[in-house]
Amino acid sequence: MQHIKWQKPVLRVAVFSAQPYDKRFLNQINLAHFQSLHAELVYHISPLSEESVPLAALCDAVCVFVNDCVDEPVLKLLSEQGVRGVFLRCAGFNNVDLKAAEKLGMFVARVPAYSPEAVAEFTIAIMLTLNRRTHRAYNRVREGNFDLNSLLGFNMHKKTVGIVGVGKIGLAVARILKGFGCNLVAYDPYEVEEFKALGSYTTLDDLLQQSDIVTLHCPFMDSTKHLINRSSLKCLKTGAMLINTSRGGLIDTSAVIDALKSGKIGALGLDVYEEEANLFYVDHSADIIHDDVFQRLVTFPNVLVTGHQAFLTEEALTEIAETTFQNLQHFADGTECKNALVGGGAKTAK
Ligand code: NAD
Repeated sequence: MQHIKWQKPVLRVAVFSAQPYDKRFLNQINLAHFQSLHAELVYHISPLSEESVPLAALCDAVCVFVNDCVDEPVLKLLSEQGVRGVFLRCAGFNNVDLKAAEKLGMFVARVPAYSPEAVAEFTIAIMLTLNRRTHRAYNRVREGNFDLNSLLGFNMHKKTVGIVGVGKIGLAVARILKGFGCNLVAYDPYEVEEFKALGSYTTLDDLLQQSDIVTLHCPFMDSTKHLINRSSLKCLKTGAMLINTSRGGLIDTSAVIDALKSGKIGALGLDVYEEEANLFYVDHSADIIHDDVFQRLVTFPNVLVTGHQAFLTEEALTEIAETTFQNLQHFADGTECKNALVGGGAKTAK
């Protein structure tokens, strides 16, 4: 694959969806380790879209996150403006049209692994909160209500947890749950030896039938879109807990709402939501939210939704910033970039 080299004295990067914590960690790493790169980061709170492309004027690259739109029309507009590189501050790249980027001769790189423990530990936090109702207990005690009724949980010990996708995060989840004494089953088309020491692989249907808790850790692709749908939910053990900290599109939300109403799903924990791009990372507390599906979801007492924050630890943000700068360095130097998805002299990772 051809190397794409940047050849200017200053590397100007438009950073989209830039939150204060992104600025803090990127600036820290830039100052501490990459001053010789002469990167100038221009931060924009707005996400990348056709409308916001002009914000990348005079920039050599854009740096984006999970909900930025990097489809063919956006890439074409960026390319016309002279942008040559796209740097993802995340692992998932379902929001980038890689074929279009390749056609346009662009460089695309991601951060394939940053502290899988950050996401795994947050997954366990959601599980335990839903199980022991600490979110409800917190509100009750603040109101002087010490009634324990309807806060009944279950022991994690000896429960069966089904892990869909045993990659870096799924494996980290498995290791933690082993400590709780859970029985672990997993579904993944690619089996790894590390998991076989902790549990056993099975089919998706069997996993859904056996598990008291199902947790999703596979990537979002055409083949995994609505993996949890009306048909697969029929296999789910009645009353099971379902957790998704991967990508919203893995779940057919209206099917899940019906399953919550019927009691088929006993509890639901989501850090991601299919239509999250219109909601997450922005304070909408004074707005009318028009997404009725989302609004219905948050009315259930056994549903916990968080705004795509599983990655948000000091360690993960440090690793994201470091790897992003390493990727920028490879782009600048024209050296092989193992995190490149397009144009970096390396093969696209699985
Ligand atoms: P990974 O690539 O290490 O692991 C993904 C695993 O899913 C692989 O083992 C793969 O074989 C498996 N897989 C592929 N297709 C599958 C299918 N059809 N059914 C079951 N398994 C399948 O990725 P990772 O680093 O563990 O990340 C997993 C996902 O977590 C990412 O795709 C990303 O969407 C999400 N994520 C979320 C956050 C967050 O803040 N909520 C942060 C980072 C990553």
